[in-house]
Amino acid sequence: MKENGSRNEAALGIRVPLVGRDVLVVGVGEQAPMLVQRLVHGGASVEWRVPAGRSPAEMPEGARVVEGAFTGAWLAGRTLVVAASDSPLANRWVAARAERDGVACLNTAEGEEVRLIETLTLNGGDVALDVTPPARGAAKGAVYLIGAGPGDPELITVRALRRLRSADVVFHDRLVPPEIMALVPPEAERVFVGKSRDRHPVPQERINELLVEHARAGRRVARLKGGDPFIFGRGGEEIDSLMREGIEFEVIPGITAASGCAAYAGIPLTHRDYAQSVVFATGHRKVDGDFVVDFSGLVRPGQTIVFYMGLAALPKLAAGLEAEGLSPSVPAALVQQGTTERQRVITGPLRDLPALAAEAGFEAPTLVIVGEVVRLRERLSWFTSEAERAEEWVAGPGTAERFG
Ligand code: SAH
Repeated sequence: MKENGSRNEAALGIRVPLVGRDVLVVGVGEQAPMLVQRLVHGGASVEWRVPAGRSPAEMPEGARVVEGAFTGAWLAGRTLVVAASDSPLANRWVAARAERDGVACLNTAEGEEVRLIETLTLNGGDVALDVTPPARGAAKGAVYLIGAGPGDPELITVRALRRLRSADVVFHDRLVPPEIMALVPPEAERVFVGKSRDRHPVPQERINELLVEHARAGRRVARLKGGDPFIFGRGGEEIDSLMREGIEFEVIPGITAASGCAAYAGIPLTHRDYAQSVVFATGHRKVDGDFVVDFSGLVRPGQTIVFYMGLAALPKLAAGLEAEGLSPSVPAALVQQGTTERQRVITGPLRDLPALAAEAGFEAPTLVIVGEVVRLRERLSWFTSEAERAEEWVAGPGTAERFG
């Protein structure tokens, strides 16, 4: 961890010509009175809009205070609007509206890129705003439960990237590949909480506690998960404890492995002719140490089955599906490290898949896709990873099974 204040290097200076211009300050957040005062001092013509009944006890000199609910019409003719309410949501709304109307906006909301206005000085007729993120620990802590997507770093959402870039600490596990970790700012602390060969996994309870502890210390905590946090990601458990402890949090969805792997393997999960439904199941369900997967709901005509965490139990999965009446010759695919340059795919009839996987030395993370849609790969495959190119070069073109 770095010293307090190291983030101040990211301070941003904005020079806006404000003397005699109309500036609107919206809201009665903590910084609002200071901002109004400084803007007036800087020579701007300031209107301060506050919610009904919340006019300040001490009226600022030189500024007009107007009570009422915010409407977009207030922006007309303004040079600058300052979103300064105590609600980040309201501020975001004002900022979005300002952006739409082409009015410059300074959003003081915690968690936004622009957070605190430190100095405001008259400077050759312009007003210079020094916009500085708060020093570490000064901000109110929050947890961002972020879906990192399936691996390709470009498959992360804009929101996820923004939250990651503002994080003070990042908790990540094994599914998050190095390409995504490279997006984390160098000054942020990284904490690995996954399983690895030489380390015991951090128990889920302890992860929950750590998130709370770090947020309480005023840090912006990124909890980075592979794929989508709410799909086999235990995201529900993590926010449950945040909710109980009253910690502010946000859930940022991600592209789940099924979507990512299917797309990059050229296997549409649904298709008008082949599959009208798709089901995501875990292939790793143990109760009291016994393997229990309920196959009865999985086998249905025209349904694609996707198994997460299914590689180790592949023979049991194949047998279980067959016992429910699925034909052993139904096409199936394995996608290892889908969407990355290490992606490998094998396809074959369900009955042969365990042997093919063993022969090819497949490892986690691998996704299993079962259903007629797998046939489409022969026609629709469009992505070849570096690993696949290398393999082809060494071993000759694909050993993938052709389906009749
Ligand atoms: N929350 C994640 C899933 C976590 S469970 C998501 O939404 O994707 C972990 C399992 O996901 C792995 O065992 C594997 O089956 C699958 N998985 C995740 N990323 C994958 C990838 N890039 N390629 C193949 N399988 C992947």
